[in-house]
Amino acid sequence: MKTRGSWVASANHPESEFPIENLPFGRFMPTGLDQADPRLGVAIGDQILDLGALVRAIPIPADESAAFAPLAAGDLNAFMALHKKYHQQVRARLTAILSKNGQGDAARVQGCLVPQSQARMVMPCTVGDYTDFYTSIHHATSVGSLFRPDNPLLPNYKWVPIGYHGRSSTLQVSGGDIPRPSGQIKPAEGPPVFGPCQKLDFELEVGFFLGAGNAPGVPIPIAEAEDHFFGLCLLNDWSARDIQSWEYQPLGPFLSKNFATTLSPWIVTREALAPFRVPYTRPVDDPAPLPYLTDPENQQAGGIDLHLQISIQSAEMRARNLSPHVLAKTNLKYSFWTMAQLITHHSSNGCLMRSGDLLGSGTMSGPDSSEAGSLLELTRGGKEALTLPSGETRRFIEDGDAIEITGFCQNASATRIGLGSCRAVIGST
Ligand code: CA
Repeated sequence: MKTRGSWVASANHPESEFPIENLPFGRFMPTGLDQADPRLGVAIGDQILDLGALVRAIPIPADESAAFAPLAAGDLNAFMALHKKYHQQVRARLTAILSKNGQGDAARVQGCLVPQSQARMVMPCTVGDYTDFYTSIHHATSVGSLFRPDNPLLPNYKWVPIGYHGRSSTLQVSGGDIPRPSGQIKPAEGPPVFGPCQKLDFELEVGFFLGAGNAPGVPIPIAEAEDHFFGLCLLNDWSARDIQSWEYQPLGPFLSKNFATTLSPWIVTREALAPFRVPYTRPVDDPAPLPYLTDPENQQAGGIDLHLQISIQSAEMRARNLSPHVLAKTNLKYSFWTMAQLITHHSSNGCLMRSGDLLGSGTMSGPDSSEAGSLLELTRGGKEALTLPSGETRRFIEDGDAIEITGFCQNASATRIGLGSCRAVIGST
């Protein structure tokens, strides 16, 4: 049943990304308190419920204290590592507290709310390791066709989830500026030169956060992988295409990817995503996943119906008050591999997975060419320029361009939830 029943009025607005059904976790600094420790909170409407303040303001039942203790201490990793029953306990309590008809003490909880407009978001948790996958077969095929027209999809693609180890040190939450990277670039003729990237691109992705990790050397079976999934965010895997095309063989991307990766600040939890799970299917002609990647529940509900959108707004567009221009719309359900398969495959050799680890979905392009998650695809490698509402053209990202990913889940039987914004401006404005 659809409900928008919170006493926090802004959460009930039809356009709100953060109704009471969402309750995503994030870390924030109240404006003017930049020297203080970041605080953990959940988004509700246009407010943040400060979880540390909440635990001090209201009595938490004794049997829920283990679940709330890491939240009160500001340690989201410790909370994520707990069994899902603790996550469900906290969600039920927060729902009761914030519900219009619940037993919450609204007057006391009111004092624990911080307007989102008066907070600066920081990384929601410590990400020990970041791995980026390549799960959209549409992206893999269209990018492959640019470089290998006769053989776009490599023979391993339908058998093994392709990934590479990224760099957690340069993960950053939405809202910052990203300097244009420099690197080795190989002109068509002559030796490589070192200089600023001329083919800067975005990659529209989703980031999956690990909840509980595994023991060293112990794989996570596919039937248990969902229990290790805490939640997700939007992710932009900025990519320097000219640096990438020179450096990537034979070991894959390196400096073309690790200068910056931008995340939306809120982790939308597995529990909030439950109404939007969809079957995972493959065309009948494709090989079935190997047994260690096969599970009935995964086939029944391993996918996630998450609408995604990416837009651009140049410095000139901002100066002229022109709205951001939508470049593409796509959906996470186009993944060839599910999040559970990524977790299981990543740990299948005994690799240690830890609470807070981040797995990127890979550029999430859809079956139609308009559903492309990178400029590399939208401009066919820079051959076909896009025209912006300002009359400017783009083959790749230019300085001053703001790139924003947004996303939401919506269907006929559940309240729409949003993921917030994943935005950054390239270079100097
Ligand atoms: Ca990527």
